[in-house]
Amino acid sequence: MPSRKGTAVLRTAVCSCRQVELVCAGTPRRVYACSCAECQRCTGTAFSYRAIYRNDAVVARKGRTKSWRRTGQSGAWLDQHFCVECGTVVFMSAEALKDAISVSVGCFEDPDFPPPQRLHWPEQRHRWLELEAFPEAHSSPS
Ligand SMILES: [Zn+2]
Ligand SMILES: [Zn+2]
Repeated sequence: MPSRKGTAVLRTAVCSCRQVELVCAGTPRRVYACSCAECQRCTGTAFSYRAIYRNDAVVARKGRTKSWRRTGQSGAWLDQHFCVECGTVVFMSAEALKDAISVSVGCFEDPDFPPPQRLHWPEQRHRWLELEAFPEAHSSPS
């Protein structure tokens, strides 16, 4: 659940076994959902829901993670960072995200977290997922 430090909201992303913690300050730069096949596999469910924070907005970190690298559709690499104990993918880094990471929103345990602005790869979504939930135009990253 969020707390405050001065005026900045602090949110802590925590894995299933609570070993990994990532404290993120302020408003995320972007919040998105992605229903590409790789995000479905990574999360084990219908789509990923992630928030992009600048590296300097991650104000504290503890716990041991490992990462696994895959190549995105564009040919650039993406690293999935997961807890070495429980396997929760707490965040991702990517070649295209130079100074930021992408944090799994479910790890924040915050029902008031900002909703995703956009769904990436809508054509690969499960058909029950209504696009009306996403305010921005539905487009896939080019
Ligand atoms: Zn864990
Ligand atoms: Zn995806």
